[in-house]
Amino acid sequence: MIIHLERCIGCQACTVACKFQNSVPDGQFRTKTPANGLKGTYPDVSLYFIKEACQMCKNAPCVSVCPTNASYYNEDGVVLVDVDKCVGCMYCLTACPYDARFINKETGAADKCTFCYESKVSKGEKPACVSTCVGGALMFGDLNDPLSKVAQYLAKHKAEVLKPEFGTHPTVQYIFEGVVK
Ligand code: SF4
Ligand code: SF4
Ligand code: SF4
Repeated sequence: MIIHLERCIGCQACTVACKFQNSVPDGQFRTKTPANGLKGTYPDVSLYFIKEACQMCKNAPCVSVCPTNASYYNEDGVVLVDVDKCVGCMYCLTACPYDARFINKETGAADKCTFCYESKVSKGEKPACVSTCVGGALMFGDLNDPLSKVAQYLAKHKAEVLKPEFGTHPTVQYIFEGVVK
């Protein structure tokens, strides 16, 4: 997933679409897009919105600490949770440097962004947040395919990952171009 921050207007359509698509319980969220980086004094002020969710790490501590293998990589490298195997120990919540997980109060299992893998992506559709994004700030595709739109977009825009110092090798890419950090 690519997130181009300059195009995000903070409307929270992604937040709502995600809750609706994934039946996320009241008061819990797989993604949020809070305001950040407020700078300056009125009338010369700026801020940006930054979508927060699972970063789909390639070296995910949530997977390695899980004692029951409930947290796992699927065949496409997407980090998922097998609700039936999860014992709710919360090791993964503690291990995740992005605070991306929570215990779903209805299932009792760890929950987080799934890239809408089962309901959308595995059927060739885009994740709910991506197809809902009014600003076109969210893009999704196969970065390993150099002909994909996301790969071509990244070739033209400098992207970075959040908190690289944790060494989890996130795959979600943020473009800060045009944003005052
Ligand atoms: S962001 Fe957190 S929950 Fe998502 S893959 Fe990385 S460590 Fe796991
Ligand atoms: S809460 Fe569930 S997914 Fe997380 S570490 Fe424990 S068993 Fe694994
Ligand atoms: S990809 Fe799906 S689960 Fe993840 S934040 Fe977007 S709508 Fe929610």
